[in-house]
Amino acid sequence: MTMSRYFTSALAALEPYTPGEQPQDRRYIKLNTNESPYPAGPQVVKAVNADEVRDLRLYSDPACTGLVNAIAARYGVKPTQVMPGNGSDEVLSFAVRAFCDEQTPLAYADITYGFYGVWAKLWGVPDRVIPLREDFTLNVEDYLGLGATVVIANPNAPTGLALKPAQIERLLQADPDHVVIVDEAYVDFGAESCVPLINEYENLLVVQTFSKSRQLAGARLGFAMGNAKLIADLNRVKFSLNPYNINRLTLKAGKAALEDTDYFDKTRAAIVETRGWTKQQLEARGFAVLDSRSNFLFASTDKKSGGELYLKLKEKGVLVRHFDAPRISNWLRITIGTPDDMTALLRALDEILEG
Ligand SMILES: *Cc1c(COP(=O)(O)O)cnc(C)c1O
Repeated sequence: MTMSRYFTSALAALEPYTPGEQPQDRRYIKLNTNESPYPAGPQVVKAVNADEVRDLRLYSDPACTGLVNAIAARYGVKPTQVMPGNGSDEVLSFAVRAFCDEQTPLAYADITYGFYGVWAKLWGVPDRVIPLREDFTLNVEDYLGLGATVVIANPNAPTGLALKPAQIERLLQADPDHVVIVDEAYVDFGAESCVPLINEYENLLVVQTFSKSRQLAGARLGFAMGNAKLIADLNRVKFSLNPYNINRLTLKAGKAALEDTDYFDKTRAAIVETRGWTKQQLEARGFAVLDSRSNFLFASTDKKSGGELYLKLKEKGVLVRHFDAPRISNWLRITIGTPDDMTALLRALDEILEG
């Protein structure tokens, strides 16, 4: 992207995040941005009705009361321990603004969600990039004594590997003077959440999203849970930037999605099952596949490079995510779709690997 001569030099070095492709030209089997392959549930459809559309003339509730109460009830926390945002991306960016500064860097893994480093640069805070181990596992010992705010995606993206809450507790205990942000975007697909720890550690902030396990990526809704004082800090940032950050329809849709626990459980169980089957199928074809606790698999083969596989799959109408980055350029991140989607992926892979 080019800059005008008016663009602030303070941000000249900023490299914006590159979102996964959302091509509008043809229909793809879309396994590249970890969306749900299932539609938003029937309760959500009911909640976003014509009356609600007419009410768009009114501002949304800046306190998000209905949704906050529903989240608090669902997770057994107090409403003062919850703050929703316009996607968890917004909540995370507020957290970087609130809990980092020139003396307090943001620490994160070399292989993780690409946005963390972008926010550090956007908000002008230094970062500390901590390499994952050779096998892509994260060792919390590497984060002790940094004097930094730490953000950990758990499960991690794009690896899908998860830490146990006890490992994160080690970090929370070792440095009570710094915040640990646990980004649980994928936690509903089989990892253990740190939410039960928020009353125990005043430095723990857990962030979740409606984008991956609740079929609402396009509605833009995420939320933080933590000590009431941390949440108040996030609200100071929010009310200094965009108090009506969540639109009325999304507030309704989110509450309905949260309360429809049957649909939530059914869809996430389907994805976990399809993930297990797909992993076996990929392994049978000689792929190395990490032990994912998320709604995607991270896989590689020495028969073809990651970049080539990505391109050939795209030609065949299957989109996956390839990161042209050190250590992972031979890997593909493949979102779990429906069983039919995965059958189509495997057929395309067979054609490519035979050819
Ligand atoms: C998808 C994702 C997010 C962003 O989710 P939104 O709620 O859609 O903004 C945050 N963190 C990780 C690790 C993700 O994969």
